[in-house]
Amino acid sequence: MSTSDSLRKPIQQLPTYVANQIAAGEVIERPASVVKELIENSLDADASQLDIDIEQGGLQRIQVRDNGHGIAHHELMLALDRHATSKISDSEDIAHITSFGFRGEALASISSVARVVLTSRTSQAEHGWQVISLPGQIPSDLKPMAHPVGTTIEVSDLFHQTPARRRFLRTASTEFSRIHTIVKCLSLGNFEFGLTLRHHKRLVLSLPTSLDDNTRAQRMRAICGDGFADTAISLSAQATGLKLWGWIGSPHNSRSQADLQYFYVNSRLIRDKRINYAVKQAYQDVLYQGRYPAVILFLTIDPTEIDVNVHPTKAEVRFRQSQLIYNFIRKSLQAALSKGPSSPSLNSSSVPFVNPAASPSTTVSALDEGWDWTPHKPSFINPTFESQPEKIESITQATPPLLADILPQLGFALAQLHGIYILAENQTGLIIIDTHAAHERILYEQLKLDIAKAPLPTQQLLVPITLTLNSEASALVKTHAALFERFGFACEHSEPNTLAVRTIPSLLKTIAIGPLLQDVFSDLQVQAQSSRIEQCFDTFLSSLACRSALHAHHKLSIAEMNQLLRQMETTQRSAQCNHGRPSWKQLTLQEMDKWFLRGR
Ligand code: ADP
Ligand code: MG
Repeated sequence: MSTSDSLRKPIQQLPTYVANQIAAGEVIERPASVVKELIENSLDADASQLDIDIEQGGLQRIQVRDNGHGIAHHELMLALDRHATSKISDSEDIAHITSFGFRGEALASISSVARVVLTSRTSQAEHGWQVISLPGQIPSDLKPMAHPVGTTIEVSDLFHQTPARRRFLRTASTEFSRIHTIVKCLSLGNFEFGLTLRHHKRLVLSLPTSLDDNTRAQRMRAICGDGFADTAISLSAQATGLKLWGWIGSPHNSRSQADLQYFYVNSRLIRDKRINYAVKQAYQDVLYQGRYPAVILFLTIDPTEIDVNVHPTKAEVRFRQSQLIYNFIRKSLQAALSKGPSSPSLNSSSVPFVNPAASPSTTVSALDEGWDWTPHKPSFINPTFESQPEKIESITQATPPLLADILPQLGFALAQLHGIYILAENQTGLIIIDTHAAHERILYEQLKLDIAKAPLPTQQLLVPITLTLNSEASALVKTHAALFERFGFACEHSEPNTLAVRTIPSLLKTIAIGPLLQDVFSDLQVQAQSSRIEQCFDTFLSSLACRSALHAHHKLSIAEMNQLLRQMETTQRSAQCNHGRPSWKQLTLQEMDKWFLRGR
């Protein structure tokens, strides 16, 4: 046995709970992630009341009790299994998800890293049932248990068996404040349930169900604080298949960071840099550079128009018609801003929202205390940073999202110049785009992709083209049959050294096929490969692109220009046209500042 053999470890199937722990790495980062998953499960179970009890910032104990529809006795064990869910049943369902959950992973992940006691009762059952699960162990048998209709999940000793993850956790009070933030975020996105949150049995937050505009505004006030609520502008807009509502901060109440921008898509809190940017654009006439508005926006959209299966904690969604949505958001905000300040319902000083039992210091005012959970950041901070002392973390947290992360590289179109150039604003300054050159490149690359994907359109020749080949070349026809087939040539020997070409790619019908193929055969004889056919295609597609590309004096709308910019960003080699001319130039603010002797 060689050394390398003795070093090789055998492949083996991982035990289920190890696989679950790996999955938990993505979903369960800290106590707040557990709370989020449990609340979402309760909401999916149509609960109207949730009671959340936390001990030691959730490190010791998290309990969520709901009055939802519960879990049937025979499904309790299954609920803890990975990929076991009641929310979808086939791959079709993934296309129109209306629940928070669908991955069937949360309970399996949580129970692989914590002790879980799950007690539940459905309305058909006479009493509840309980199962207890410990990491790496087979869950206990079900025990009958007194319980009202609904579910209680108690999660304790989180990460006791995963010290690596435990090291990333902060103090109990920091972890609790993250839980607090998550709870606020979820209750802002879902008004139809009431909730209590307790830390060490002390009531921290209490919200009644809020089903009408007035009570919704009150919940918003309770969560976001008077500072925001007093001046916020309420917004409501509709377009085909889209509804947007919420509150947007008055320009006078701007912030130095984009840390209070909350977007809910079908009740799910998501982050989306381009929505942030749409907001920024909407405010650009009314806000100073470097200031950010606070906004809370709710978008309702047909679930088939979004893909929620793009992020492990479902913190992002993908829109099928993203440009349309960003434009809709920007325009709705612009319209609301041009209307001026707030609707009267927001300024109501009615019903106190936070339970009077809570001490004044625990009154929730997110704006005042500054939410520490910034949804614009990747949730997993670089481990080397995390293992540094506390100080580093606060630095990381204080860093505002980089503008470069928010703005698309080529920015957004401002205007068209003499029908030739597009002017766009990006993070560094002004961009000038040669419309024709850019469009030509986009078309060309697209044509190449289309050709590579689809079966090529071919054309049968009435009169076959015949080529006389030497015996070596004749032999190559067989060896390279696949090459000819791929490009849409059908050829066969009509006589030993004569080749009859009966089908050719339609795209090359104007090209002299005989000489082309002769050249290909010479290439193949000399170097065993030939890219001549590709080159011919490329030349043809390039001239096709040039002829089809937008020519000067073609008027473009801003939306069309932006579409072109976005296409450029995702197109290879888009910095040059097919003839090698540059397609765009950047003028930086520094350069312009120099012209105008600014800052000297
Ligand atoms: P998912 O939410 O993706 O389906 P989970 O692991 O979070 O996966 O939950 C698994 C299943 O357990 C859910 O599909 C649901 O049927 C059930 N379940 C979990 N929590 C609750 C709850 N609070 N009330 C009712 N059913 C629940
Ligand atoms: Mg779930």
